[in-house]
Amino acid sequence: MAHTPRPWRPGKHGGCVVSDKPPQGVRKETGHADVDYYGGFLICESVFRIEDAWLISAAPDLYRVAKDFEEVLKELGLFCECGRDDCRTTRLRVALSKVTPLLPAPTTRSDS
Ligand SMILES: [Zn+2]
Repeated sequence: MAHTPRPWRPGKHGGCVVSDKPPQGVRKETGHADVDYYGGFLICESVFRIEDAWLISAAPDLYRVAKDFEEVLKELGLFCECGRDDCRTTRLRVALSKVTPLLPAPTTRSDS
């Protein structure tokens, strides 16, 4: 996946999240490269709660870990494709599908 390189972290102003490395194709006139103002290359701004900015900052690392766990589950033969809403593997697949929305999301079903 070609997201902006990590690490991401809260920046200096306006509930922003920044990266130490520039987003691909960033242009100076957009303001995303105003490293002096934001404290890094701008990922997003106007995030109201700092806790949300921390969560957004952690997203690339969480994505990497989720992909690692998906791989481990497959290697161990534990990758479940039952599709139940309460299945941890289903929830992992659904979460990962949100990162690559152009791919088909796994189907889920609930027994309720
Ligand atoms: Zn399952």
